[in-house]
Amino acid sequence: MQDLKLLANDKRGKTELGSRRDLVGWHEVTQGSILPSFDGDAIGIALKKAEERVYSNFNSYTATVASWRVQKPVFNIDVCIDCQNCWVWCPDSSILSRDKQMMGIDYDHCKGCQVCSEVCPTNPKSLLMFNEYVQLEDALASWPEKKKKEK
Ligand code: SF4
Ligand code: SF4
Repeated sequence: MQDLKLLANDKRGKTELGSRRDLVGWHEVTQGSILPSFDGDAIGIALKKAEERVYSNFNSYTATVASWRVQKPVFNIDVCIDCQNCWVWCPDSSILSRDKQMMGIDYDHCKGCQVCSEVCPTNPKSLLMFNEYVQLEDALASWPEKKKKEK
């Protein structure tokens, strides 16, 4: 079963979006202000893995939108063929993939849009949507069988 903090550092999703009163909204920022995405020296940041980067509090990496979801995708590694379709199509970069291997979902940033499940080509699908409150182990235990081709 997926570790919910898979490929994350301590800052991923640590605050609810909009809950930090000390951070101003975009409409309040003085023109010409610079909001750094990273704390300290960002040289070579593109070569670092997400969990190794030192994100600033201005970066959306540090905010969670998990409470926006009604349904969540659940990943079944036993059926996955690592085609990377879900990674390509996810509009929120919430598919966690490493060395072309699908690993799971970033539940801090996934908004439950279902795109990943729709584009998953396996039979049965390796990503299925479940109610947000269903436990991962219960979802995996209820996975459907392979569908036979209709003649
Ligand atoms: S449900 Fe949407 S946001 Fe969440 S992982 Fe799938 S494609 Fe990405
Ligand atoms: S689309 Fe489905 S089969 Fe392809 S990598 Fe994602 S979960 Fe695996």
